[in-house]
Amino acid sequence: MKISRLFVISGPSGAGKGTLVSLLRAKRPDLALSISATTRHPRSGEIDGKDYYFLTDDEFDDLIAQHGFVEWAHVHAHRYGTLQREVKRHLEGGHSLILEIDPQGAFQVKENVKDAVLIFITPPSPQILEERLRKRGTESERDIQIRLANMPGELEASKNYNVIIENDDLEKATQALLDAIASFEEKSE
Ligand code: ADP
Ligand code: 5GP
Repeated sequence: MKISRLFVISGPSGAGKGTLVSLLRAKRPDLALSISATTRHPRSGEIDGKDYYFLTDDEFDDLIAQHGFVEWAHVHAHRYGTLQREVKRHLEGGHSLILEIDPQGAFQVKENVKDAVLIFITPPSPQILEERLRKRGTESERDIQIRLANMPGELEASKNYNVIIENDDLEKATQALLDAIASFEEKSE
């Protein structure tokens, strides 16, 4: 029997998490994706309520005070958090749910949801990560430097993940992600 589970996907900025998650969901439209809240500004093309809920610092503080977050963390000089209402809504729907969040958030989730599966997306090399981040062209030089400086700590955290997937060839990495998710949906632990 297939079991609905919580899958947490992390990895350094530019590793390809967003790309892989959208390819994954094209093949598995039943997988729900939690939309996080953040205090960072929207990138060009990002839509409030679709990519993130873009909040002011005060709105984020209010949600913390109302216990509105499953987890939240300071990431790359901004705050990001998983909303209680998002997780509840999707899990009640009986589908597996994906959280694309950083390792600090991943370990907070794991504390509360023991059978959550932690999946880490790693780049083929730090050089390729930097190339991808620059080519994406969505961050200022200062923000790129912050994201690159955070990479070693994030890679270190990957040791405590259930699955590590190298995103070199996009098609192979998508298949590895699909296989990992399907295999954990068959297990009860
Ligand atoms: P993240 O969500 O982890 O920050 P993205 O999904 O935005 O990363 O990917 C960063 C950039 O790298 C994007 O421009 C994306 O198109 C590109 N990219 C992702 N995966 C690959 C890959 N396997 N090979 C080459 N480029 C990739
Ligand atoms: P970005 O600004 O590139 O969209 O995301 C930056 C980082 O924030 C990524 O590592 C992403 O996984 C993480 N992130 C996004 N949403 C959340 C969240 O709700 N909680 C936590 N802890 N991290 C998040």
